[in-house]
Amino acid sequence: MMNTPLTITSMIERAEKYFSKKKVISRTQGGIHELTYKDIGKRVRALSSALEELGVEQGDRVGTLAWNHHRHLEAYFAIPSMGAVLHTINIRLPAEHLIHIINHAEDKVLLVDPDLLPLIEKIADQIPAVKAFIVMGEDFYVPESSLDPLYAYEHLVAEGDKTYEYTAQIDENDPAGMCYTSATTGKPKGVVYSHRGIALHSMSLGLADTAALSESDVSMPVVPMFHANAWGVPFSATWFGATQVLPGPYAAPKILAELIETYKVTTSAGVPTIWLGLLKEIETNNYDLSSIRAILCGGSAAPEGLIRAFELKHGIPFIHAYGMTETTPLVTLARLKSYQSDLPEDDRLSIRKKQGLVVPGLDIKAINDSGEIKHDGEDMGELLIRGPWIADEYYRDPDKSVETFRDGWLHTGDVVTIDEEGNVEIVDRTKDLIKSGGEWISSVELENALMGHEGIFEAAVVSMPDPKWQERPVACVVLHEGVELSKEEILAYLEAKFVKWWVPDDVIFMEEIPKTSVGKFLKRTLRDQVREMV
Ligand code: ADP
Repeated sequence: MMNTPLTITSMIERAEKYFSKKKVISRTQGGIHELTYKDIGKRVRALSSALEELGVEQGDRVGTLAWNHHRHLEAYFAIPSMGAVLHTINIRLPAEHLIHIINHAEDKVLLVDPDLLPLIEKIADQIPAVKAFIVMGEDFYVPESSLDPLYAYEHLVAEGDKTYEYTAQIDENDPAGMCYTSATTGKPKGVVYSHRGIALHSMSLGLADTAALSESDVSMPVVPMFHANAWGVPFSATWFGATQVLPGPYAAPKILAELIETYKVTTSAGVPTIWLGLLKEIETNNYDLSSIRAILCGGSAAPEGLIRAFELKHGIPFIHAYGMTETTPLVTLARLKSYQSDLPEDDRLSIRKKQGLVVPGLDIKAINDSGEIKHDGEDMGELLIRGPWIADEYYRDPDKSVETFRDGWLHTGDVVTIDEEGNVEIVDRTKDLIKSGGEWISSVELENALMGHEGIFEAAVVSMPDPKWQERPVACVVLHEGVELSKEEILAYLEAKFVKWWVPDDVIFMEEIPKTSVGKFLKRTLRDQVREMV
Protein backbone atom coordinates (compact mmCIF):
# COMPACT_ATOMS: atom_id res chain seq x y z
CA MET A 1 0.00 0.00 0.00
CA MET A 2 1.03 3.57 -0.42
CA ASN A 3 2.42 5.30 2.57
CA THR A 4 0.83 8.73 2.26
CA PRO A 5 0.89 10.93 5.36
CA LEU A 6 -2.19 11.48 7.53
CA THR A 7 -2.14 15.21 8.18
CA ILE A 8 -4.35 17.96 9.53
CA THR A 9 -3.66 19.92 6.34
CA SER A 10 -5.59 17.35 4.33
CA MET A 11 -8.58 17.67 6.69
CA ILE A 12 -9.08 21.39 6.12
CA GLU A 13 -8.35 21.04 2.40
CA ARG A 14 -11.08 18.42 2.14
CA ALA A 15 -13.61 20.67 3.88
CA GLU A 16 -12.66 23.55 1.64
CA LYS A 17 -12.89 21.48 -1.51
CA TYR A 18 -15.99 19.37 -0.94
CA PHE A 19 -18.05 21.19 1.67
CA SER A 20 -17.64 24.78 0.58
CA LYS A 21 -21.34 25.53 1.23
CA LYS A 22 -21.54 23.96 4.66
CA LYS A 23 -21.46 26.28 7.64
CA VAL A 24 -19.73 27.00 10.88
CA ILE A 25 -21.87 29.03 13.25
CA SER A 26 -19.86 30.78 15.86
CA ARG A 27 -20.85 32.76 18.91
CA THR A 28 -18.31 35.35 20.07
CA GLN A 29 -18.51 38.44 22.23
CA GLY A 30 -19.39 40.30 19.04
CA GLY A 31 -22.46 38.16 18.32
CA ILE A 32 -23.24 35.23 16.04
CA HIS A 33 -21.13 34.67 12.92
CA GLU A 34 -21.93 32.33 10.06
CA LEU A 35 -19.08 31.27 7.81
CA THR A 36 -18.86 28.59 5.15
CA TYR A 37 -15.97 26.15 4.91
CA LYS A 38 -15.02 28.10 1.80
CA ASP A 39 -14.62 31.25 3.93
CA ILE A 40 -12.91 29.34 6.71
CA GLY A 41 -10.52 27.66 4.25
CA LYS A 42 -9.37 31.04 2.92
CA ARG A 43 -9.07 32.53 6.37
CA VAL A 44 -7.00 29.54 7.54
CA ARG A 45 -4.61 30.04 4.63
CA ALA A 46 -4.40 33.76 5.38
CA LEU A 47 -3.66 33.05 9.05
CA SER A 48 -0.91 30.56 8.14
CA SER A 49 0.70 33.13 5.87
CA ALA A 50 0.44 35.82 8.57
CA LEU A 51 2.06 33.56 11.15
CA GLU A 52 4.86 32.83 8.71
CA GLU A 53 5.35 36.59 8.25
CA LEU A 54 5.59 36.92 12.02
CA GLY A 55 8.47 34.44 11.97
CA VAL A 56 6.72 31.22 13.00
CA GLU A 57 8.67 28.25 11.63
CA GLN A 58 8.05 24.54 11.33
CA GLY A 59 8.10 22.95 14.79
CA ASP A 60 7.48 26.23 16.68
CA ARG A 61 4.76 26.23 19.31
CA VAL A 62 1.91 28.72 18.93
CA GLY A 63 -0.36 29.06 21.95
CA THR A 64 -4.08 29.84 22.01
CA LEU A 65 -6.08 31.17 24.95
CA ALA A 66 -9.57 31.16 23.60
CA TRP A 67 -13.17 30.00 23.87
CA ASN A 68 -14.93 27.77 21.35
CA HIS A 69 -15.41 29.94 18.25
CA HIS A 70 -14.53 30.12 14.56
CA ARG A 71 -11.24 31.96 15.05
CA HIS A 72 -10.07 29.27 17.41
CA LEU A 73 -11.16 26.68 14.85
CA GLU A 74 -9.13 28.48 12.19
CA ALA A 75 -6.09 28.40 14.46
CA TYR A 76 -6.66 24.64 14.92
CA PHE A 77 -5.91 24.19 11.22
CA ALA A 78 -3.67 27.14 10.32
CA ILE A 79 -1.01 26.35 12.93
CA PRO A 80 -0.47 22.62 12.22
CA SER A 81 -0.95 23.04 8.47
CA MET A 82 2.12 25.26 8.29
CA GLY A 83 4.07 22.71 10.33
CA ALA A 84 3.88 24.54 13.66
CA VAL A 85 2.38 23.14 16.86
CA LEU A 86 -1.02 24.24 18.16
CA HIS A 87 -0.73 24.62 21.94
CA THR A 88 -4.21 25.05 23.39
CA ILE A 89 -3.90 26.67 26.80
CA ASN A 90 -6.48 26.19 29.53
CA ILE A 91 -7.83 29.69 30.24
CA ARG A 92 -8.89 28.74 33.74
CA LEU A 93 -5.45 27.87 35.05
CA PRO A 94 -3.96 29.97 37.84
CA ALA A 95 -1.25 32.47 36.74
CA GLU A 96 1.60 30.30 38.06
CA HIS A 97 0.47 27.37 35.89
CA LEU A 98 -0.01 29.61 32.85
CA ILE A 99 3.54 30.90 33.27
CA HIS A 100 4.84 27.38 33.75
CA ILE A 101 3.24 25.89 30.67
CA ILE A 102 3.85 28.83 28.32
CA ASN A 103 7.53 28.75 29.30
CA HIS A 104 7.74 24.98 29.26
CA ALA A 105 6.20 24.82 25.77
CA GLU A 106 8.26 27.89 24.70
CA ASP A 107 5.33 29.34 22.83
CA LYS A 108 6.59 31.81 20.21
CA VAL A 109 3.27 33.51 19.50
CA LEU A 110 0.09 33.66 21.60
CA LEU A 111 -3.42 34.09 20.18
CA VAL A 112 -5.65 35.47 22.91
CA ASP A 113 -9.36 36.30 23.16
CA PRO A 114 -10.07 39.96 23.98
CA ASP A 115 -11.61 39.22 27.38
CA LEU A 116 -8.63 37.04 28.30
CA LEU A 117 -5.95 39.65 27.54
CA PRO A 118 -5.72 40.69 31.23
CA LEU A 119 -4.62 37.13 32.12
CA ILE A 120 -1.62 37.49 29.82
CA GLU A 121 -0.93 41.16 30.53
CA LYS A 122 -0.35 40.22 34.17
CA ILE A 123 2.29 37.64 33.34
CA ALA A 124 3.76 39.09 30.13
CA ASP A 125 7.11 39.92 31.74
CA GLN A 126 7.51 36.31 32.88
CA ILE A 127 7.08 34.59 29.49
CA PRO A 128 10.22 35.65 27.60
CA ALA A 129 9.92 33.17 24.71
CA VAL A 130 6.73 34.79 23.40
CA LYS A 131 7.67 37.13 20.55
CA ALA A 132 4.21 38.35 19.52
CA PHE A 133 0.60 38.47 20.71
CA ILE A 134 -2.53 38.35 18.55
CA VAL A 135 -5.90 39.46 19.89
CA MET A 136 -8.74 37.33 18.50
CA GLY A 137 -11.45 39.99 18.52
CA GLU A 138 -13.79 41.43 15.92
CA ASP A 139 -11.84 44.61 15.31
CA PHE A 140 -9.13 45.50 12.85
CA TYR A 141 -7.54 47.58 15.56
CA VAL A 142 -5.87 46.43 18.72
CA PRO A 143 -7.34 47.47 22.07
CA GLU A 144 -5.42 49.39 24.74
CA SER A 145 -2.97 46.87 26.14
CA SER A 146 0.48 46.60 27.65
CA LEU A 147 1.25 43.61 25.39
CA ASP A 148 3.84 44.35 22.75
CA PRO A 149 3.88 43.66 19.86
CA LEU A 150 0.13 43.07 19.71
CA TYR A 151 -1.66 42.38 16.42
CA ALA A 152 -5.36 42.26 15.57
CA TYR A 153 -6.42 38.84 14.29
CA GLU A 154 -8.90 40.22 11.76
CA HIS A 155 -6.30 42.62 10.42
CA LEU A 156 -3.76 39.83 9.95
CA VAL A 157 -6.35 37.64 8.22
CA ALA A 158 -7.49 40.49 5.97
CA GLU A 159 -3.91 41.26 4.97
CA GLY A 160 -2.81 37.62 4.78
CA ASP A 161 -2.52 35.53 1.61
CA LYS A 162 -5.83 33.72 1.07
CA THR A 163 -4.25 31.55 -1.61
CA TYR A 164 -1.30 30.54 0.58
CA GLU A 165 -0.09 27.02 -0.30
CA TYR A 166 0.80 24.81 2.63
CA THR A 167 4.35 24.12 1.63
CA ALA A 168 5.65 22.63 4.85
CA GLN A 169 6.93 19.09 4.37
CA ILE A 170 4.98 17.41 7.12
CA ASP A 171 5.72 13.90 8.26
CA GLU A 172 2.62 12.35 9.79
CA ASN A 173 4.58 11.71 12.97
CA ASP A 174 5.45 15.39 13.35
CA PRO A 175 3.90 17.22 16.27
CA ALA A 176 0.65 18.99 15.39
CA GLY A 177 -0.72 19.95 18.78
CA MET A 178 -0.08 19.94 22.47
CA CYS A 179 -2.10 20.22 25.61
CA TYR A 180 -1.25 20.18 29.29
CA THR A 181 -3.28 18.03 31.66
CA SER A 182 -5.53 20.09 33.84
CA ALA A 183 -3.75 19.11 37.02
CA THR A 184 -6.29 17.34 39.14
CA THR A 185 -3.13 15.36 39.74
CA GLY A 186 -0.37 17.91 40.43
CA LYS A 187 1.64 20.13 38.08
CA PRO A 188 0.38 20.21 34.46
CA LYS A 189 2.14 17.72 32.22
CA GLY A 190 2.49 18.33 28.48
CA VAL A 191 1.12 15.91 25.92
CA VAL A 192 2.15 16.26 22.27
CA TYR A 193 -0.23 15.03 19.56
CA SER A 194 1.10 13.98 16.15
CA HIS A 195 -0.72 14.64 12.87
CA ARG A 196 -1.18 10.89 12.52
CA GLY A 197 -2.55 10.51 16.05
CA ILE A 198 -5.10 13.27 15.55
CA ALA A 199 -6.10 11.95 12.11
CA LEU A 200 -6.66 8.38 13.34
CA HIS A 201 -8.51 9.61 16.40
CA SER A 202 -10.68 11.82 14.19
CA MET A 203 -11.60 8.81 12.08
CA SER A 204 -12.52 6.87 15.19
CA LEU A 205 -15.07 9.56 16.12
CA GLY A 206 -16.77 8.90 12.80
CA LEU A 207 -17.35 5.18 13.34
CA ALA A 208 -20.98 4.16 13.56
CA ASP A 209 -20.34 2.32 16.81
CA THR A 210 -18.56 5.24 18.48
CA ALA A 211 -19.68 8.87 18.14
CA ALA A 212 -20.89 8.30 14.54
CA LEU A 213 -20.01 11.88 13.64
CA SER A 214 -20.83 12.57 10.00
CA GLU A 215 -21.56 15.17 7.34
CA SER A 216 -25.23 15.18 8.27
CA ASP A 217 -24.51 16.25 11.86
CA VAL A 218 -24.80 19.67 13.40
CA SER A 219 -22.03 19.31 15.95
CA MET A 220 -21.74 21.53 19.01
CA PRO A 221 -18.73 20.81 21.20
CA VAL A 222 -19.31 22.34 24.61
CA VAL A 223 -16.18 20.77 26.06
CA PRO A 224 -13.65 23.60 25.73
CA MET A 225 -11.34 23.69 22.74
CA PHE A 226 -8.53 24.11 25.30
CA HIS A 227 -9.39 20.78 26.92
CA ALA A 228 -7.98 17.83 24.95
CA ASN A 229 -8.92 19.63 21.69
CA ALA A 230 -12.62 19.60 22.61
CA TRP A 231 -12.22 15.82 22.51
CA GLY A 232 -11.09 16.10 18.90
CA VAL A 233 -14.62 16.92 17.77
CA PRO A 234 -13.73 20.08 15.77
CA PHE A 235 -11.10 18.15 13.79
CA SER A 236 -13.51 15.36 12.84
CA ALA A 237 -16.44 17.69 12.20
CA THR A 238 -14.37 19.78 9.79
CA TRP A 239 -12.87 16.78 8.01
CA PHE A 240 -16.29 15.20 7.55
CA GLY A 241 -17.94 18.48 6.50
CA ALA A 242 -20.42 18.56 9.39
CA THR A 243 -22.13 21.81 10.30
CA GLN A 244 -20.57 23.17 13.47
CA VAL A 245 -22.01 25.35 16.19
CA LEU A 246 -19.31 26.81 18.41
CA PRO A 247 -20.94 28.15 21.55
CA GLY A 248 -18.35 30.78 22.50
CA PRO A 249 -17.61 32.47 25.80
CA TYR A 250 -19.55 31.93 29.01
CA ALA A 251 -22.05 29.60 27.35
CA ALA A 252 -24.56 29.25 30.18
CA PRO A 253 -27.19 26.46 30.02
CA LYS A 254 -29.78 28.89 28.64
CA ILE A 255 -27.48 29.85 25.78
CA LEU A 256 -26.75 26.20 25.02
CA ALA A 257 -30.44 25.32 24.98
CA GLU A 258 -31.16 28.24 22.65
CA LEU A 259 -28.33 27.30 20.29
CA ILE A 260 -29.52 23.68 20.15
CA GLU A 261 -33.05 24.80 19.39
CA THR A 262 -32.14 27.48 16.83
CA TYR A 263 -29.54 25.56 14.85
CA LYS A 264 -31.03 22.10 15.31
CA VAL A 265 -27.90 20.68 16.86
CA THR A 266 -27.74 16.91 16.45
CA THR A 267 -24.77 16.07 18.64
CA SER A 268 -22.89 17.70 21.45
CA ALA A 269 -20.11 16.80 23.86
CA GLY A 270 -19.27 17.89 27.40
CA VAL A 271 -18.58 16.96 31.02
CA PRO A 272 -21.44 15.91 33.37
CA THR A 273 -21.53 19.37 35.03
CA ILE A 274 -22.59 20.88 31.70
CA TRP A 275 -25.41 18.38 31.29
CA LEU A 276 -26.56 18.76 34.90
CA GLY A 277 -26.84 22.49 34.18
CA LEU A 278 -28.68 21.97 30.90
CA LEU A 279 -31.04 19.51 32.57
CA LYS A 280 -31.98 22.10 35.18
CA GLU A 281 -32.60 24.64 32.41
CA ILE A 282 -34.82 22.40 30.29
CA GLU A 283 -36.80 21.37 33.34
CA THR A 284 -37.50 25.02 34.13
CA ASN A 285 -38.11 26.42 30.66
CA ASN A 286 -39.52 25.02 27.44
CA TYR A 287 -37.24 24.24 24.51
CA ASP A 288 -37.52 22.02 21.47
CA LEU A 289 -34.40 19.85 21.63
CA SER A 290 -35.77 17.10 19.42
CA SER A 291 -32.96 17.55 16.87
CA ILE A 292 -30.41 15.92 19.19
CA ARG A 293 -29.43 12.38 18.23
CA ALA A 294 -26.63 11.99 20.77
CA ILE A 295 -25.10 13.78 23.69
CA LEU A 296 -21.58 12.62 24.48
CA CYS A 297 -20.68 12.80 28.13
CA GLY A 298 -17.24 12.16 29.58
CA GLY A 299 -14.40 13.64 31.58
CA SER A 300 -15.84 12.31 34.80
CA ALA A 301 -18.40 9.67 35.61
CA ALA A 302 -21.88 10.32 34.23
CA PRO A 303 -24.30 9.64 37.10
CA GLU A 304 -26.98 7.09 36.22
CA GLY A 305 -29.63 9.60 37.29
CA LEU A 306 -28.37 12.02 34.64
CA ILE A 307 -28.54 9.42 31.85
CA ARG A 308 -31.97 8.36 33.05
CA ALA A 309 -33.30 11.93 33.12
CA PHE A 310 -32.05 12.79 29.64
CA GLU A 311 -33.15 9.57 28.01
CA LEU A 312 -36.33 8.59 29.77
CA LYS A 313 -37.74 11.94 30.79
CA HIS A 314 -36.62 14.04 27.84
CA GLY A 315 -36.03 11.45 25.11
CA ILE A 316 -32.49 12.70 24.46
CA PRO A 317 -29.99 9.89 23.77
CA PHE A 318 -27.05 10.13 26.11
CA ILE A 319 -23.72 8.35 25.52
CA HIS A 320 -21.10 7.89 28.18
CA ALA A 321 -17.44 7.93 27.07
CA TYR A 322 -14.04 7.87 28.73
CA GLY A 323 -10.64 9.24 27.93
CA MET A 324 -7.84 11.48 29.08
CA THR A 325 -5.60 14.25 27.75
CA GLU A 326 -2.91 11.60 27.17
CA THR A 327 -5.26 9.63 24.87
CA THR A 328 -6.39 12.37 22.41
CA PRO A 329 -8.84 11.52 24.26
CA LEU A 330 -11.40 8.88 23.18
CA VAL A 331 -10.71 5.41 24.65
CA THR A 332 -14.02 3.77 25.52
CA LEU A 333 -17.65 4.47 24.78
CA ALA A 334 -20.77 2.83 26.18
CA ARG A 335 -23.25 1.38 23.71
CA LEU A 336 -25.41 -1.69 23.88
CA LYS A 337 -24.50 -4.65 21.69
CA SER A 338 -27.20 -5.68 19.22
CA TYR A 339 -28.28 -8.64 21.34
CA GLN A 340 -28.65 -6.47 24.44
CA SER A 341 -31.32 -4.16 23.11
CA ASP A 342 -34.17 -6.33 24.43
CA LEU A 343 -32.90 -6.37 28.00
CA PRO A 344 -35.08 -4.76 30.65
CA GLU A 345 -34.60 -1.01 30.96
CA ASP A 346 -32.66 -1.17 34.23
CA ASP A 347 -30.21 -3.71 32.83
CA ARG A 348 -29.65 -1.61 29.73
CA LEU A 349 -28.99 1.44 31.86
CA SER A 350 -26.58 -0.44 34.06
CA ILE A 351 -24.51 -1.27 30.96
CA ARG A 352 -24.76 2.22 29.48
CA LYS A 353 -23.68 3.93 32.68
CA LYS A 354 -20.35 2.11 32.49
CA GLN A 355 -17.54 3.77 30.52
CA GLY A 356 -17.96 1.12 27.84
CA LEU A 357 -16.06 -0.77 25.21
CA VAL A 358 -12.62 0.12 23.91
CA VAL A 359 -12.85 1.73 20.47
CA PRO A 360 -11.35 -0.06 17.44
CA GLY A 361 -7.64 0.70 17.13
CA LEU A 362 -6.73 0.69 20.81
CA ASP A 363 -5.75 -2.07 23.23
CA ILE A 364 -6.49 -2.11 26.93
CA LYS A 365 -5.87 -4.31 29.93
CA ALA A 366 -6.12 -3.86 33.66
CA ILE A 367 -3.64 -5.14 36.20
CA ASN A 368 -3.33 -5.48 39.95
CA ASP A 369 -0.82 -7.18 42.24
CA SER A 370 -1.92 -10.60 41.03
CA GLY A 371 -1.52 -9.76 37.34
CA GLU A 372 -4.19 -9.12 34.73
CA ILE A 373 -7.69 -8.84 36.20
CA LYS A 374 -10.51 -11.25 35.43
CA HIS A 375 -13.22 -9.91 33.14
CA ASP A 376 -16.00 -10.55 35.63
CA GLY A 377 -17.07 -7.01 36.46
CA GLU A 378 -15.75 -7.47 40.02
CA ASP A 379 -11.99 -7.81 39.93
CA MET A 380 -10.32 -4.40 40.10
CA GLY A 381 -7.06 -3.16 38.63
CA GLU A 382 -5.34 -0.17 37.03
CA LEU A 383 -6.30 0.45 33.41
CA LEU A 384 -3.46 0.33 30.88
CA ILE A 385 -3.88 1.56 27.30
CA ARG A 386 -1.86 1.46 24.09
CA GLY A 387 -2.52 2.49 20.52
CA PRO A 388 -1.72 4.94 17.73
CA TRP A 389 -3.38 7.95 19.42
CA ILE A 390 -2.01 7.30 22.89
CA ALA A 391 0.92 9.48 24.02
CA ASP A 392 4.14 7.67 24.80
CA GLU A 393 5.74 10.35 26.97
CA TYR A 394 5.18 13.72 28.62
CA TYR A 395 6.80 16.64 26.87
CA ARG A 396 10.27 17.25 28.33
CA ASP A 397 9.44 15.52 31.60
CA PRO A 398 11.47 12.31 31.88
CA ASP A 399 10.57 11.65 35.54
CA LYS A 400 6.80 11.83 35.06
CA SER A 401 7.14 9.96 31.76
CA VAL A 402 8.85 7.00 33.38
CA GLU A 403 6.11 6.76 36.02
CA THR A 404 3.26 6.76 33.50
CA PHE A 405 4.57 5.20 30.30
CA ARG A 406 6.06 1.80 31.05
CA ASP A 407 6.41 -1.51 29.21
CA GLY A 408 4.73 -0.11 26.12
CA TRP A 409 1.57 0.93 27.97
CA LEU A 410 0.08 4.13 29.35
CA HIS A 411 -0.65 3.56 33.04
CA THR A 412 -3.79 5.62 33.56
CA GLY A 413 -4.03 5.77 37.36
CA ASP A 414 -7.70 4.81 36.92
CA VAL A 415 -8.92 1.75 38.77
CA VAL A 416 -11.44 -0.23 36.75
CA THR A 417 -13.42 -3.42 36.48
CA ILE A 418 -14.05 -5.08 33.11
CA ASP A 419 -17.14 -7.25 32.63
CA GLU A 420 -17.62 -10.41 30.53
CA GLU A 421 -18.68 -8.27 27.54
CA GLY A 422 -15.52 -6.17 27.79
CA ASN A 423 -17.20 -3.08 29.22
CA VAL A 424 -14.89 -0.99 31.36
CA GLU A 425 -16.19 0.63 34.50
CA ILE A 426 -14.10 3.24 36.28
CA VAL A 427 -14.18 2.50 39.98
CA ASP A 428 -12.08 5.48 40.95
CA ARG A 429 -8.81 7.24 40.41
CA THR A 430 -6.15 5.37 42.35
CA LYS A 431 -5.68 8.30 44.69
CA ASP A 432 -9.42 8.87 45.29
CA LEU A 433 -10.26 5.30 46.31
CA ILE A 434 -11.17 5.05 49.95
CA LYS A 435 -9.41 2.29 51.81
CA SER A 436 -11.48 1.24 54.80
CA GLY A 437 -10.20 -1.60 56.96
CA GLY A 438 -8.00 -2.77 54.09
CA GLU A 439 -10.90 -2.91 51.59
CA TRP A 440 -11.61 -0.46 48.78
CA ILE A 441 -14.68 1.72 48.63
CA SER A 442 -15.43 3.45 45.35
CA SER A 443 -16.21 7.13 45.84
CA VAL A 444 -17.58 7.20 42.29
CA GLU A 445 -20.23 4.55 42.97
CA LEU A 446 -21.43 6.33 46.08
CA GLU A 447 -21.53 9.65 44.22
CA ASN A 448 -23.52 8.15 41.37
CA ALA A 449 -26.05 6.72 43.77
CA LEU A 450 -26.36 10.01 45.63
CA MET A 451 -26.81 11.98 42.42
CA GLY A 452 -29.49 9.48 41.46
CA HIS A 453 -31.62 10.79 44.35
CA GLU A 454 -34.11 13.28 43.00
CA GLY A 455 -33.48 15.80 45.77
CA ILE A 456 -29.71 15.88 45.24
CA PHE A 457 -28.09 18.14 42.65
CA GLU A 458 -24.44 17.24 43.16
CA ALA A 459 -22.50 14.94 45.46
CA ALA A 460 -18.86 14.08 46.03
CA VAL A 461 -17.48 11.52 48.43
CA VAL A 462 -14.04 11.86 49.99
CA SER A 463 -12.05 9.99 52.58
CA MET A 464 -11.44 11.04 56.17
CA PRO A 465 -8.65 9.57 58.25
CA ASP A 466 -10.03 7.15 60.80
CA PRO A 467 -8.16 5.68 63.78
CA LYS A 468 -9.83 2.29 63.45
CA TRP A 469 -10.43 1.82 59.72
CA GLN A 470 -7.61 4.05 58.37
CA GLU A 471 -10.08 5.86 56.10
CA ARG A 472 -13.82 6.33 56.08
CA PRO A 473 -16.06 7.96 53.44
CA VAL A 474 -17.80 11.29 54.00
CA ALA A 475 -20.44 12.54 51.56
CA CYS A 476 -20.62 16.19 50.50
CA VAL A 477 -24.03 16.99 49.11
CA VAL A 478 -25.62 19.93 47.28
CA LEU A 479 -29.42 19.78 47.37
CA HIS A 480 -31.72 21.03 44.64
CA GLU A 481 -33.23 24.42 45.44
CA GLY A 482 -36.12 24.23 47.87
CA VAL A 483 -35.47 20.59 48.79
CA GLU A 484 -35.19 19.54 52.40
CA LEU A 485 -33.41 16.30 53.20
CA SER A 486 -31.80 15.26 56.45
CA LYS A 487 -28.52 13.46 56.93
CA GLU A 488 -30.45 10.47 58.28
CA GLU A 489 -32.68 10.29 55.20
CA ILE A 490 -29.67 10.37 52.90
CA LEU A 491 -27.85 7.68 54.84
CA ALA A 492 -30.95 5.49 54.92
CA TYR A 493 -31.22 5.88 51.14
CA LEU A 494 -27.62 4.66 50.75
CA GLU A 495 -28.08 1.84 53.27
CA ALA A 496 -30.72 0.38 50.99
CA LYS A 497 -28.23 0.26 48.12
CA PHE A 498 -24.84 -0.61 49.60
CA VAL A 499 -23.26 -2.96 52.10
CA LYS A 500 -23.10 -1.36 55.52
CA TRP A 501 -19.41 -0.54 55.60
CA TRP A 502 -19.65 1.44 52.33
CA VAL A 503 -22.18 3.87 53.77
CA PRO A 504 -20.47 7.20 54.63
CA ASP A 505 -19.97 8.14 58.26
CA ASP A 506 -21.21 11.65 57.71
CA VAL A 507 -23.07 13.89 55.28
CA ILE A 508 -22.00 17.50 54.85
CA PHE A 509 -24.38 19.90 53.12
CA MET A 510 -22.69 22.42 50.84
CA GLU A 511 -23.63 25.28 48.52
CA GLU A 512 -21.31 24.01 45.80
CA ILE A 513 -18.70 21.32 45.25
CA PRO A 514 -15.31 22.84 44.35
CA LYS A 515 -14.41 22.04 40.73
CA THR A 516 -11.33 22.01 38.54
CA SER A 517 -10.86 24.36 35.65
CA VAL A 518 -12.69 21.90 33.41
CA GLY A 519 -15.64 21.29 35.70
CA LYS A 520 -14.57 18.10 37.49
CA PHE A 521 -14.88 17.70 41.23
CA LEU A 522 -11.70 18.93 42.85
CA LYS A 523 -11.33 16.14 45.36
CA ARG A 524 -8.03 17.36 46.76
CA THR A 525 -9.47 20.74 47.78
CA LEU A 526 -12.70 19.17 48.95
CA ARG A 527 -10.79 16.70 51.10
CA ASP A 528 -8.87 19.55 52.76
CA GLN A 529 -12.07 21.55 53.31
CA VAL A 530 -13.88 18.60 54.84
CA ARG A 531 -10.98 17.67 57.07
CA GLU A 532 -11.00 21.21 58.45
CA MET A 533 -14.77 21.19 58.96
CA VAL A 534 -15.14 17.89 60.73
P1 ADP B 1 -6.83 15.61 34.51
O1 ADP B 1 -6.03 14.35 34.58
O2 ADP B 1 -6.02 16.80 34.71
O3 ADP B 1 -8.12 15.58 35.27
P2 ADP B 1 -8.05 14.81 32.01
O4 ADP B 1 -9.11 15.64 31.49
O5 ADP B 1 -7.07 14.26 31.08
O6 ADP B 1 -7.31 15.74 33.00
O7 ADP B 1 -8.72 13.69 32.90
C1 ADP B 1 -8.70 12.34 32.59
C2 ADP B 1 -9.30 11.59 33.72
O8 ADP B 1 -10.67 11.91 33.88
C3 ADP B 1 -9.28 10.09 33.54
O9 ADP B 1 -8.03 9.56 33.90
C4 ADP B 1 -10.40 9.65 34.48
O10 ADP B 1 -9.97 9.58 35.81
C5 ADP B 1 -11.38 10.78 34.37
N1 ADP B 1 -12.45 10.46 33.43
C6 ADP B 1 -12.57 10.79 32.13
N2 ADP B 1 -13.71 10.34 31.60
C7 ADP B 1 -14.36 9.70 32.58
C8 ADP B 1 -15.61 9.00 32.68
N3 ADP B 1 -16.43 8.90 31.65
N4 ADP B 1 -15.92 8.45 33.87
C9 ADP B 1 -15.11 8.55 34.93
N5 ADP B 1 -13.94 9.20 34.91
C10 ADP B 1 -13.56 9.76 33.76
